Amino acid sequence: MTDPPESIRARQAEQLLEIGWPDGRIDRLAYRTIRGACPCANCRDEWTGAPILDPATIAADLKLAGMENIGTYAVQFAWSDGHSTGIYTWETLRGLGDTSSLPPPVG
Ligand SMILES: [Zn+2]
Repeated sequence: MTDPPESIRARQAEQLLEIGWPDGRIDRLAYRTIRGACPCANCRDEWTGAPILDPATIAADLKLAGMENIGTYAVQFAWSDGHSTGIYTWETLRGLGDTSSLPPPVG
């Protein structure tokens, strides 16, 4: 069980989310990375977990349109491409941070 983040900040200009975890780690996840990892049934095979969504089809200018907490265990993102069915558990976000977190900004 992954503890919920202490903060989730949208950096629209950089097209990334800054996620602060209780252990002090801060992940910087590009919108397109998060969108590409969408766990919903349209983007991922329900049984095998294999991705259906082609990352090349994700808009380069993708923006976050909304964000809603799902209980205490997950968050649902709405994207500027109209997609909003993906529910990301903290575990999923943390896992994305493990593999895909961007370096901190320079300066
Ligand atoms: Zn999806």
